This record gives sequence, C-alpha cells and structure tokens, in this order.
Amino acid sequence: MTEPPGARARILDAGDPLALYRDRFDVPDGVIYLDGNSLGCLPRATPARLEEVVRQEWGRDLIRSWNSAGWIDMPKRVGAKIAPLIGAQPHEVIATDSVSVNLFKLISAALAMQAQKHGARRKVVLSEPGNFPTDIYMIEGLEKQGLAERRLVDRGAMKDALGDDVALLLLTHAHYKTGELFDMPALTEAAHDAGALVLWDLSHSGGALPVDLNGAHADFAVGCGYKYLNGGPGAPSYAFIAERHVEATQQPLSGWMGHAAPFAFSDDYRPAPGVERLMCGTPGILGLAALEVGVDIIAEIGIEPLYAKSQQLSEFFRQCLAESGLELDLVSPADPGQRGSQLSFRHEEAHAICQALIARGVIGDFRDPDILRFGFAPAYLRFADMAEAVRHLTEVIETGEWQREEFRERAAVT
Ligand SMILES: *Cc1c(COP(=O)(O)O)cnc(C)c1O
Repeated sequence: MTEPPGARARILDAGDPLALYRDRFDVPDGVIYLDGNSLGCLPRATPARLEEVVRQEWGRDLIRSWNSAGWIDMPKRVGAKIAPLIGAQPHEVIATDSVSVNLFKLISAALAMQAQKHGARRKVVLSEPGNFPTDIYMIEGLEKQGLAERRLVDRGAMKDALGDDVALLLLTHAHYKTGELFDMPALTEAAHDAGALVLWDLSHSGGALPVDLNGAHADFAVGCGYKYLNGGPGAPSYAFIAERHVEATQQPLSGWMGHAAPFAFSDDYRPAPGVERLMCGTPGILGLAALEVGVDIIAEIGIEPLYAKSQQLSEFFRQCLAESGLELDLVSPADPGQRGSQLSFRHEEAHAICQALIARGVIGDFRDPDILRFGFAPAYLRFADMAEAVRHLTEVIETGEWQREEFRERAAVT
C-alpha cells in the first residue's frame, strides 16, 4: 500500500535541495501560500535593507547617495541580475516602471520601427483574446491614438494570422489564468518569417521557469517584479531589448532619465546609447532596493533547480488530488512541460471555495468567472504544503463548507 500523502511529503521535503531557502522568506505561520504568482512572499532580508536605504542612504547621506550608494545605477544593476533568468545579456535588461508602462514604450517603439521600414502598411498588433488585460488595454490605447490596430486571434490560429499587415506579435509566455505556455522559439520564428517583431510578456515565467529570450531570437520582452521575483507590492518591472535593436528603439516616453546625459540639462532629447533609453523619470529607489533583495535570492538558487522543483510540486499536488478522489476540472495543461508554475481548476463555485480556503489559511486566488488558481513558488513552498492544501480543498468541497454566507462577498481585489 502506498503511504499517505503527508508521509510521502515528509520524505520529499527531507530530500529537497531547495528546502533551506524557505527560511530566507517570512512565510507566516499557519499559512499555505499558493499565491506567490500574484504577490511573492517577503524575503527576510528586505525590511533591514529598506531600513538601511531609508535611514542611512536617504536619511543621513541624502542626495549624495545617487553616487555614493549607486542609486543612479540601480535600474541597470537590477536588470543585469534578472538577465540570466530570462536568457538575456546583462546590458539588455533594465528594471524600471510597471509592466503596463513598459508595454506602452515597447509596443510604440516596435510600431515606429515598422513604420520606418514599411510606411503605414504594418500597424496591426496581434495578441490573443483573454491575454492579461493590461496587455490588451495598452494596445487599445495606442489604437485610439491612431497608432496601432488591435487584432486578437485564438492561440491555435496565431501563426496563420501573421499577415503582412502585422507589425508586432504581443504574447504572454505563461497564461495568467491557465498557465499554458506558448512555444516561444516557434512563434518568434513564425513572426519573423512574416516580417513582424515579437514582444513577450514574461510576468508569469520570470523567476519560475527558464526562458531563453536570445535563444529564441526574441526582440522585446517585459516582466513582473512582484510575482516570482518577490520584489514587493508594485515593484518595478523589467524590460528587455535585444542588443541588435537597441539603437533603433525610440520610445515615446522620452523623459530625462532616458537621456544620454541627463545632467547635461540639454534642451534636446538624445536617447541613452543602451537599454537605459527605456527609462523615463527618476526611478523609485525604495522599490528597486526591495526588488534587488528578491532577485538576489532567486538568482542565487538558479532557475533550473527552481523549475525542477516547481514541476515536482505541481505534479505532487495533482497526485494528492487524484488520490483524494475529488474530481476537479483542470484547465491547465496536464503536462508540466506545457505549463507555468501553477494549476488552475474550473468550478462554478470557485469564488466561494477560494474564500473558504483562505479562511483556513490556504491562500490561492480566484480569477473571474470560475477559475480557482494555485501558484507554486518553488523558492519557499514545501511538499507538505501541497498535501495539506489538497486536504483542505477536499474538505471544503466535500463538507459544503464553501456554502457559508461569509464566503459569498466579493472584495475589490480577488
Ligand atoms: C501581473 C501582470 C502584469 C502586471 O502589470 P503591471 O503594470 O506591473 O501591474 C502584466 N502582464 C501580465 C501578463 C501579468 O501577469
């Protein structure tokens, strides 16, 4: 007879080479945190680092810290640390602004590059319906200005939709709801064959699974700092420009921090020679300092071991679920090689079930209208958390606990 899930989990945790990293995070007692794909946990080193930046670098050293504490280099420094996680060279990545703002800059830049080459003929930005809203909304905003034409096509038809009017293919590598992955090398190649550029959103990939932007010959990318990189709420995001495109990349938010010589105070804008040209205004140093702590831990562990554990965690979760006898409708790909670090299930009562689980300390999330989503941040989760989460999930559904009145209310953030 096979041992119960809890006993197997203990064996797996004992043999887990990443187990010691859990202690680098402040995971609250009594919480099983399956939402690190939405807001990563707090690294234990972050409060002290922020205290240092606030009290010493800001409080005592004041404006001198732009030089003495290296504040001015932080967007590049943090970007360079993120680069190996996503298959980029250190000088191709910058940490600045939100994903949304960087999408605006890079979509605009890609459209301008295409216009220079092809005139007004290529204006279509191709994406898929159900992509993360901000990606779609940013295209829409450019469309309203007459600069882009938005076209949304189901993923199965994506390659065929790459006509000669497509300027840019904008896709999210790991889908936020289902976790389904796009084949980055194949789609990038197809887009290039059709004369289009490609912008990848790595928000649900970076820090959880290996990405090889340069191996795939990607043109541009963006990604999130507060999910698997554990940079804290609203952390700066990162943006990538392939080296071959840097010089041709003219982004419209031509703020002084993206200038080649901000402190020359010239009347004329001249973009910085490197990826720093993506900067706009003065970077938020507190946010960058927190992000750097999170990135350092992920970089120290390395993306391959993280990916291996991510797959083991989600597969163990599925195994426990299968043994529990509870049947749930999996909307994520069953093959762990085809999905990001998450499992999503469709259930009519997904919202109430999610609330009931949260009341038990099992924090996953609900995605409208009927998706129950569990993210597996491999840096701090244990196999025991999987076994326990499945036990709670089974109990909540089988006892009908989710039907309690208190689980019906919807908060502003789900
Ligand atoms: C989380 C996420 C974002 C976040 O965008 P912000 O502007 O940083 O809030 C963007 N795209 C995807 C796919 C995401 O999952």
